[in-house]
Amino acid sequence: MRAAIFWTINDFPAYANLSGWSTKRSLACPCCNKDTVSMRLKYGKKFCYMGHRRFLSHDHKWRNEKKTFDGTKENRLAPKTLSGDEVLQQLSQMKQVIFGKVNKKRKHGKSKDNLNARKDLMAMGLRKELHLIPIQGKEIDIQNSVQTIGNSKPYKMPSAFYTLSKDERQSFCQFLMDLKLPDGFSSNISRCVNKHEGKLQNLKSHDIHCLLHRHLPLGIRGLLRKDISNTLIEFSAYFRELCSKSLRMSDLERLENSIALTLCKLERIFPPTFFDIMVHLSIHLATEAKIAGPVQYRWMYPFERYLRTLKSYVRNKARPEGSIAEE
Ligand SMILES: [Zn+2]
Repeated sequence: MRAAIFWTINDFPAYANLSGWSTKRSLACPCCNKDTVSMRLKYGKKFCYMGHRRFLSHDHKWRNEKKTFDGTKENRLAPKTLSGDEVLQQLSQMKQVIFGKVNKKRKHGKSKDNLNARKDLMAMGLRKELHLIPIQGKEIDIQNSVQTIGNSKPYKMPSAFYTLSKDERQSFCQFLMDLKLPDGFSSNISRCVNKHEGKLQNLKSHDIHCLLHRHLPLGIRGLLRKDISNTLIEFSAYFRELCSKSLRMSDLERLENSIALTLCKLERIFPPTFFDIMVHLSIHLATEAKIAGPVQYRWMYPFERYLRTLKSYVRNKARPEGSIAEE
């Protein structure tokens, strides 16, 4: 028997199972393919995907800036989009694909801006203002101390200009709690707000969608330095425009150019650990919308809602498929 997939809606990890192109480690981006730019962080022990200056025009002045980016000049061009024939040719070289997923437990890290992220910055010699400060009056040579002292205690982590203080976080939470929205626009986001700790919790994917598109650009004005908040607002405007009801080709071309610039601006602000593959993928979304059309016909929300319906049929949690199939 042979089976063929005509269309599918899947998340990014499932992309690897479907296509056979691994979405992890050094060549994680299926669009950039073998030209994916990645770097393994020594202390963060993760891969990060920066190098968005490649997508800028070849004479852009940021291509020559070293210090504000990853310490190198950028002469490479944007990766070429593969044609269907080229993908087919790649596939013919493959030996065996193992379909399905391997069960692994997810780890949830709290913040990407942690001690290891700062150690990586020190090792790369970038953003001096974010480097760890040795304490207890010891003048420790920074380069050596990181390697010799594995313990985090002798360091102080200077607070970064992109982090919010507790008061600022609480005022953002208050903003979300006071938010009045049209009926049916989104879920009641004030239920996800923990103002006391200045945290958001139990967010569903659609809550994050609304947060990114609408609430974040409104809420962070005035809380962060102007250039940082403007960059974040640009980033969310990109997603908002991309999800509009109708899309024009000319707008998508503009978005393609603007996201390259926005990601470069983000590279100047955040440490490399921030740039995981999900951040990098945003650069390909406008191009994909040019091929596949408006986003709302392809997104997951209707299916997420239907999954909830299916979930309510489950009586035996050990064998969920059985109860779903019976209904
Ligand atoms: Zn890519």
